[in-house]
Amino acid sequence: MARYTEAKCRLCRREGCKLFLKGDRCFSEKCAVDSHRRPYAPGQHGRARKKASEYAVQLREKQKVRRSYGILERQFHSYFEKAEKQKGVTGTNLLVILERRLDNVVYRLGFATSRNQARQLVRHGIFTLNGRKVNIPSLQVKVGDSIEVPEKHRKIPVLEGMQDAIGRRGCPAWLESDGTAFKGTVKALPQRDDIQFDVKEQLIVELYSK
Ligand code: SF4
Repeated sequence: MARYTEAKCRLCRREGCKLFLKGDRCFSEKCAVDSHRRPYAPGQHGRARKKASEYAVQLREKQKVRRSYGILERQFHSYFEKAEKQKGVTGTNLLVILERRLDNVVYRLGFATSRNQARQLVRHGIFTLNGRKVNIPSLQVKVGDSIEVPEKHRKIPVLEGMQDAIGRRGCPAWLESDGTAFKGTVKALPQRDDIQFDVKEQLIVELYSK
């Protein structure tokens, strides 16, 4: 499967905000955004100041969300089409679909330090969903689903910092995390207020509606 392999901090610098793509480093003083060492976009023209067009603003907002969740363009667009067909506000529907991905839930529960790592762990089949082994990161979770690490996988070093990760990031209200039991539960579907991400999703809707 295709994936993005360029330096991750460049993506944050491009979007001008933290996308939390590198796990613990994102919470340290080494973070390229927090350190303000190069407070401009990467590349030859990164320092050039120019007024962004309406299209450019919408595109940047879409890229910010897409890169944060680590989704390729084609799949992101198919999520948008799915969100459009659902009842309610399309932008909110889109964010809820992204939040309900299994890899995101694993990350939110603190089983991984980044969504990228969560995706790898899911692909390696170290989690069970309602007692059955799963290896599909894009799977959409439902209310009442339970995500667990079976006994035989609990010793892997990545999971040692689980409680710390929850302490730093906090577990969203729609999920319940039990670090000692290596288990998480989906208590409810996420609402817009649960998604603490500085994003103007309406701009994405406008971009795709052109
Ligand atoms: Fe982004 Fe994390 Fe790199 Fe900071 S450390 S720039 S948040 S990927």
